[in-house]
Amino acid sequence: MKHENTLFSKNLLNWYDINKRTLPWRSESDPYRIWLSEIMLQQTQTERVSHYYFKWLKRFPSLKSVAKAKEESLLKVWEGLGYYNRCRNFHSAAKTVIKDYNGKIPKEFKLFKSLPGIGDYTAAAVLSIAFDIPFPAIDGNIKRVMARMLRIKTITKYNFRRVQKELENFIDKTRPGDFNQALMDLGNQVCRPNQAHCYACPMKSFCRAAQTDHPEQYPRPELSKDIPHYDVVLGLIWKKGRFLILKRDNRKHLGGLWELPGGKIDYRESPEKALIREIKEECNVDVILGKNTDPIKHRYSHFAITVRAFHCQLYNGKKVFSNQPNRWITPQQIIKFPFPKANHKLFAKINFDADNI
Ligand code: SF4
Repeated sequence: MKHENTLFSKNLLNWYDINKRTLPWRSESDPYRIWLSEIMLQQTQTERVSHYYFKWLKRFPSLKSVAKAKEESLLKVWEGLGYYNRCRNFHSAAKTVIKDYNGKIPKEFKLFKSLPGIGDYTAAAVLSIAFDIPFPAIDGNIKRVMARMLRIKTITKYNFRRVQKELENFIDKTRPGDFNQALMDLGNQVCRPNQAHCYACPMKSFCRAAQTDHPEQYPRPELSKDIPHYDVVLGLIWKKGRFLILKRDNRKHLGGLWELPGGKIDYRESPEKALIREIKEECNVDVILGKNTDPIKHRYSHFAITVRAFHCQLYNGKKVFSNQPNRWITPQQIIKFPFPKANHKLFAKINFDADNI
């Protein structure tokens, strides 16, 4: 068995040494940078992360600089990467590490995992890559590769535990970070979701699915779910060349970002009626609606939206009263605040010089 384990990691690491992907964080030894890359990579494709990774490091070169930064400046750099909870959690985790651990990332699995935003996968990935501690980090790619090696149809809890145990056995104790990354790369380049290139796979002799005609049927693909769609209407409420923006509650989806007032259109309402109602609820003012913008479409992971906006004026010049923090900004100040992507798509449709009322 020991011989088999050694051969498993030897084959895998030999392949990795020749075929590994060149990624900006791969040559890193700084635990802060490795941690940052893993947080950015959660639910986000590698190609998208590179740009944000460099932009972030330019602005926040150390964990200390993250801990000291204002949440809004962090969100501004993160803007567009999505899943903003990751950014807020990273901020509070950085503050804890600076305050409680003297700026050193805790190497103990339980301690590191107790920080905000760290799950089993991220803890194992960071600790194995940054500190050579042999924890298997099981991401989507590794789950698929191992399901094929063990010929698992469905990843139940029990089967996940089987995968974990196998990897605990096989993980290379001297290069655990490389071992994890090698399996990820194998899943990305060779053992692809819809096509397993078994002829080019260094793990073929260990793989049970490779003995079948269709290794891709392991694990069984999950059925894609239909996601709900919502119609949303927003208001550009103008006052002396500035328009109103509100800050989203931190506990909500896209929390901490700024947005235009407005909300979902009820199926019984017209967009106009919905906007007047939403603005009354959010800002306690009545508005007169002007021109509307072309609608834009945007898709989040769990729902999709069609958004349109109306230029508005305050009725009787009343004062806005909102429970949310609010600002009046000029179009030139848009770049200073973090907004959801859907708002940016909408801003791009507006001719601020001509449409401003
Ligand atoms: S042999 Fe084929 S199915 Fe098995 S891990 Fe390699 S590519 Fe995937």
